[in-house]
Amino acid sequence: MDESKYILPEGIEVKKVSRELWIGKDNRGYSEKSTAVYSLAIDKKCDICGKPVGNTCYTLCPACSAIKDSERYYELEEVEWDGETILCIYGDDTYFSYEDEIYDYCNDNEIKVSDLHLVLCEKNKPRPFNLYDVIDDVLPEDAESSDYAGAQEVEDVVNDWLGKQTFSWIGSNKRVNIKGE
Ligand SMILES: [Zn+2]
Repeated sequence: MDESKYILPEGIEVKKVSRELWIGKDNRGYSEKSTAVYSLAIDKKCDICGKPVGNTCYTLCPACSAIKDSERYYELEEVEWDGETILCIYGDDTYFSYEDEIYDYCNDNEIKVSDLHLVLCEKNKPRPFNLYDVIDDVLPEDAESSDYAGAQEVEDVVNDWLGKQTFSWIGSNKRVNIKGE
C-alpha cells in the first residue's frame, strides 16, 4: 500500500507513539504507518493526475478513468454493424435494439453517438446441459448417463435446442462505429 496516495482530513495526521506503534482512527494503534494512514484516509490521489479520486477505493479520478476507458475502447477491433445485432455501451448494461433507440438515447443524454462507445453484443450461451449431472445422485457408482438407452440423444437434443435460443445478450469486444449527426 502506497500511503502517500491517501488523503487525510485537514489538520489530521497519524502519530508515531513508539518505534512500532502508530495511532490512527479512533485513537487505535497500528503497527504499520500505512494502515494507520488508511484508517484515517477520506480520499486518495489519482494514480495519473494526483487529484482526489473521491473515495479511498479507486485508483483513478473520474476524468482519468474516462480517458482510460476511451483508450481501451478504441483498441478494440472495429466491425460493421448489420443493423440487427443488439448493441450495448462498452462496460455498461445499456442495450440498443435499433438505430432510432441510439439517437433517442443520445438526445436524452446530450451525448454524441461517437462518444457512446458502442460494442456489438453476443448471445449469452447457457452452460451445456449434462444429463449425468442431473441424474448423478441416483446413478449406481461408476455408471455414466450414456450407459442408459437414449440418454445421449436426449442430451444432444436439449443442447441443440439451447444453442438455437436467444436468452439474453452480453457486450463483446468488438466496437461498432455508428455515424452520428
Ligand atoms: Zn486523474
